[in-house]
Amino acid sequence: MKALVVHPPNKGVEVKEISDIDRSLNGNEVLIKTIANGICGTDRGIVSGLLKFSRPPTEKNSLVLGHENLGQVIDKGSNVQGLSKGDHVVSIVRRGCGKCSNCLAGRQDFCETGEFVEAGIRGLDGFMREFYIDNTSYLVRIPYEIVDIAVLLEPLSNVVKAYNELMLTQRRMIWWCKDGSYGCKNVAVVGSGPIGLLFSLIFSVQGFNTFVLNKRDPFPTEAEIIEKINAKFINTTKGQLPYVIDVLIDTSGYPSAFIPLMNKLNKNSAVILFGTTGGEKFEVNADLITYLVENNVLLFGSVNASKRDFEEGVNYLTIWKYRYPNVLNKMITRVVKPEEASEVLYTKPRGEIKTIISWV
Ligand SMILES: [Zn+2]
Repeated sequence: MKALVVHPPNKGVEVKEISDIDRSLNGNEVLIKTIANGICGTDRGIVSGLLKFSRPPTEKNSLVLGHENLGQVIDKGSNVQGLSKGDHVVSIVRRGCGKCSNCLAGRQDFCETGEFVEAGIRGLDGFMREFYIDNTSYLVRIPYEIVDIAVLLEPLSNVVKAYNELMLTQRRMIWWCKDGSYGCKNVAVVGSGPIGLLFSLIFSVQGFNTFVLNKRDPFPTEAEIIEKINAKFINTTKGQLPYVIDVLIDTSGYPSAFIPLMNKLNKNSAVILFGTTGGEKFEVNADLITYLVENNVLLFGSVNASKRDFEEGVNYLTIWKYRYPNVLNKMITRVVKPEEASEVLYTKPRGEIKTIISWV
């Protein structure tokens, strides 16, 4: 079968014939035909050789790329319940260490040993291949009604986790508005990529005032989506955010993009660090530390997601599809065949929100 293969830490990607699946399924296993994969910065980081923690499975020198996925059940083992042939599924990405308390409780996204593996990223083959076998415990069933947008579920699951962490930690005080809603709270999302837009969606539907920040004007599709979800776009080179910020979310990974905004943080506010990148040096003034202390500002990083976050993401996608028609499908700005994927894996197309690889 066909697969997109990489050789981390070396750069490059190739469409390659790999051996077909020639074994029978164990009781809890499912044979899955891949329908689509999303492409994200992590995939491009691996292909460019810059993502240093990427590695092939033990005793292999190559890795099947791909962690954003959507597939269809072709066959299943005798003990698999709740899934039928023909059902659509999304596989979760991280598989726990099997040792620490969090992994043993299904929260491998909070693994304490670091000995986890991640499909298509580190230590486990990914989903950019025609077929694969997965254990039913790693699969989330997708209702037929959202199959067209379900390739967005994996990135969304990470956003759901971060949102849930925020709402849990902000219970450290009374944080809602006088009318019991969040309508008096301002959320600033730095970055207007797919993660930035998904953060904007989740906060907007929960009643927060949501602002999407970038250092350029929005592309037409971005502008359309942001208007439809009742958020506002701010080009930070032309004008600054006129309000105080109750939640600041960085999806860029560049300190220069979000640290200068931190003096706008409100009392009892929170900062979510989600983006990662390398190289940039940025000086932090001790006055900023004083400001964060004096204002009870919470700052946390968030990565990955639990199976529960994926399941909650399924609910969000279902609601959003009908509340905001032509928003989520418009986030998929380009569809390529596997043979065309290396081009978009090397270079991000201009105006891209999400490029996907279609296997059907
Ligand atoms: Zn663990």
